[in-house]
Amino acid sequence: MNIVVLGPQGSGKGTQAELLSEKYNLLHVETGEILRKLTETTSPLAGEVRDIMNEGKLVSDEILEKVLRETLNKPNGSGFVFDGTPRNVVQYGLIEKILKSKGEKFDKIVLINISEPETIKRLSSRRTCEECGKVYNLVTNPPKNGKTCDCGGRLIQREDDKPESIKKRLQTYHEQTSKVIDSAKKDGILVEIDGERPIDEIFCEISSIVDKLKYENSPKN
Ligand code: AMP
Repeated sequence: MNIVVLGPQGSGKGTQAELLSEKYNLLHVETGEILRKLTETTSPLAGEVRDIMNEGKLVSDEILEKVLRETLNKPNGSGFVFDGTPRNVVQYGLIEKILKSKGEKFDKIVLINISEPETIKRLSSRRTCEECGKVYNLVTNPPKNGKTCDCGGRLIQREDDKPESIKKRLQTYHEQTSKVIDSAKKDGILVEIDGERPIDEIFCEISSIVDKLKYENSPKN
């Protein structure tokens, strides 16, 4: 079973993808995180990828293909949950092709909708611990003492969560990802979810969609 969780930055797609990965034993493919890790290596691509990410632009489809092919060859339990990709129609076609070569397909594309002001509010208050990587939101999910991570680490703001980058990332999201949404709609696999609700409520709705899918895909049906 292969699920895509789509949505603008700050929609909570990472949280939902993580929960889906645990509940349904799916490999969580988070391209933003894979690329961030790449920037910390000695790879010849590290500097180029870091600059592109800091500007809030998308890395090239060639770099993404390289990274994705490596990841999609890993053992994946019962399937994949994609988070942060496909971001454009080229990536949609690429992943479809890789899945097809394994005898698989996209089963559902779950689009989590939140408004633009909500995106900006959520992203500008996001902080990450320098030590353990835990992500907080200073408004909705602050650390216990309000300043440092619960582990004692310093909290930093992602370079691309600063206002200029946020605007650029949102613009890119609307320009490119809207075409992915159109393709998913055409393929009859799109479901839209209201993302301005509590995490567990959203997860409950997505879980019921996935449970239905599992039932329909089970051999006796
Ligand atoms: P995210 O954490 O998903 O917001 O991604 C952070 C940044 O990583 C994006 O602004 C892009 O620069 C890059 N990135 C992540 N996923 C992709 C992708 N599928 N295609 C191209 N660039 C990506």
